[in-house]
Amino acid sequence: MKQEKKITIAIDGYSSTGKSTMAKALARAIGYAYIDTGAMYRAVTLYCLDNGLFDGDRVDEAELERRLNDIHITFKPNDEGRSETWLNGTNVESEIRSMRVSDKVSIIAAIGSVRRDMVRQQQAMGRDKGIVMDGRDIGTVVFPDAELKVFVTADPMVRAQRRYDELRAKGDTTTTLDEVLHNVTERDRIDTTRAESPLRQADDAVVLDNSNMTIPEQNAFLRGAFLATLAH
Ligand code: C5P
Repeated sequence: MKQEKKITIAIDGYSSTGKSTMAKALARAIGYAYIDTGAMYRAVTLYCLDNGLFDGDRVDEAELERRLNDIHITFKPNDEGRSETWLNGTNVESEIRSMRVSDKVSIIAAIGSVRRDMVRQQQAMGRDKGIVMDGRDIGTVVFPDAELKVFVTADPMVRAQRRYDELRAKGDTTTTLDEVLHNVTERDRIDTTRAESPLRQADDAVVLDNSNMTIPEQNAFLRGAFLATLAH
C-alpha cells in the first residue's frame, strides 16, 4: 500500500491480548517500523535476573539505576526479516518470553527510573513517525499525540489459553494453565495500579475486545482503523 503521510500508531492494552501480533502484521502491510516496548522491559528484567539484582521479588533499585547506562537494548532483523531483541550483544528474543522473565517484568516496569529511560529511547525511535508501537503507555505517555490509538482487551481466560498454547508450542511442558492465568491477571493488576504511568485507556483510543476474534479479523479491524485515520 502506498501512502504519503506517515502517522504514529499506538497500541496499548492488557497482557497477552495479541497486541504484538496485530501490530507486527499492520507494520509489515503498510511498510512502517514496529517496536515492541514490552520486549525492552523484558530485557531489563532479564539483565536484573542474570546479574543478581533480584532478591525474591525485591530488586535493588539504586543499583539498577546506576547500571541503566550499561544496559543496551537493540532490535535487529533475523534471516527471515523478523525483528529480534538483543541485550548487550546477545540475542535474547527467546529468553525474554520465558515464565522466569514474565513473572518479574511488571516489578521492573513499575520503577520510575527504568520507565523514564525506556520512554526516552522509545520517543527517539518514533521521532520520524511511520511507526507502530505496542505497550501499556504508548498512547498516554510515549506518544500522547499519536494519530491512531488502539486499546486492546480480551477475557483473561481467553488470553491465558492463548499464552499457554504459545508456551507449549515453544516446548515449555511444565507451566500450567493456572500459572499462566495467574501471571496474566497479576501483571494486569500491577500494570494498572502502579504509581508511574499506569496502564489506562487514552481518552481518544479506539477499543478492541478481541475475545471472540480470529487473527485475520483483528488484523482487518486494525487495517480499517488505520485507513479511516489516514482519510481523516
Ligand atoms: O507486552 P508484554 O506483555 O511483553 O510486556 C511485558 C510487561 O512489560 C508488561 O506486563 C508491563 O509490565 C511492562 N510494559 C510496560 N509498558 C510498556 C510495555 C510493557 O509497563 N510500554
